[in-house]
Amino acid sequence: MSTQRLSWLAHLSAWLGSLSLIGVLCFHFPELLTSRDFRAVYSEAFARHLLLAGLVSAFVLGTLAILRGRNRRIALLGVGTATLAVLLGGSDVQLDGIGQTRWSLGLDWFVVSLLFSALVFIPLERALGRLDQSPLRPGWRTDVAYFFVSHVLVQFILILVTAWTTGVAALAAFPALQSAIQSLPTWLQFALAVFFADLAQATLHRAYHRTPWLWRFHSVHHSSTHMDWLAGSRMHLVEIVLTRAMVLLPLVVLGFSQGAINAYVILVGLQAVLAHANLGVRFGWLEQVIVLPRYHHWHHAREPGYVDANYAIHLPLVDRLMGTFRLPRDGSWPAEYGVLDPTTVPDGIVQQHLMPFRRGKPRAEG
Ligand SMILES: [Zn+2]
Ligand SMILES: [Zn+2]
Repeated sequence: MSTQRLSWLAHLSAWLGSLSLIGVLCFHFPELLTSRDFRAVYSEAFARHLLLAGLVSAFVLGTLAILRGRNRRIALLGVGTATLAVLLGGSDVQLDGIGQTRWSLGLDWFVVSLLFSALVFIPLERALGRLDQSPLRPGWRTDVAYFFVSHVLVQFILILVTAWTTGVAALAAFPALQSAIQSLPTWLQFALAVFFADLAQATLHRAYHRTPWLWRFHSVHHSSTHMDWLAGSRMHLVEIVLTRAMVLLPLVVLGFSQGAINAYVILVGLQAVLAHANLGVRFGWLEQVIVLPRYHHWHHAREPGYVDANYAIHLPLVDRLMGTFRLPRDGSWPAEYGVLDPTTVPDGIVQQHLMPFRRGKPRAEG
């Protein structure tokens, strides 16, 4: 146990040092490296405090790990990146105003999102995990790479999705229906938005499973053999753009208010992480009403009887309507996760992104 704890010090130091270095670079090149939409959500003071906390923790944890002689090279990476971050200005780094650029990356969104998701879910999974599984389980590097790419490219994804939804919404406008929906209270609009979005998502999700060329893209998501808060990040960029565009479309066409749509976007982010998490808590009857870990874990099961089930990501009701609801009543969990034939999906984010475009007969697994 003590060895494991010491190893943790080094890994945490390396992560905090690297994230601090990215943070300092964001201060130097804000117009290129940070997302304009996300910048509006936090203050400069918040970013500086976070950076200071990251730097101090990286130094303290890294030094402790080095003194105890465990994972020295990883601990040195933590102290080294933190030192470089301090040399580049540390938490007092100057911010020379933010210029305008056409394109920008979302490195700030990546750092903050990874930090807070890890802070919430790693301790939660340690305490309530169904399996005693390290956060550094097989495939974690691939999943961090997916987390990185999907967050850093957030602006490009949003541009594609918005172009598609506003384009189609302009063609398909139903003013009477839209004003009727907008006259509803926001909480009811939100509930309806979740239902219609999940119906669109589950319909598309079933198509991913049943259409061989679409399955090639979606099989990447199913290739994770270990489930935790990070596993859901593994998703082909084509699937991310296609799914978000198709799911947002009914919400825009039906005319839901921006407040209801924003609340839905926050929910989908949280529930997607939660549904994959390694949490063994039994929620009783609630498991029949809301998509919780055990429900979505069965969708990832390496068992032929469950491949074509549980497409919903919010409401199991949607699967009941589609005839694809399947949840063992005995509270059991899948024995194994992943695609039925693991040789169909290569390892690593680059090969997985190329795989759907390679020649060869597509395979259906749904
Ligand atoms: Zn699926
Ligand atoms: Zn999933």
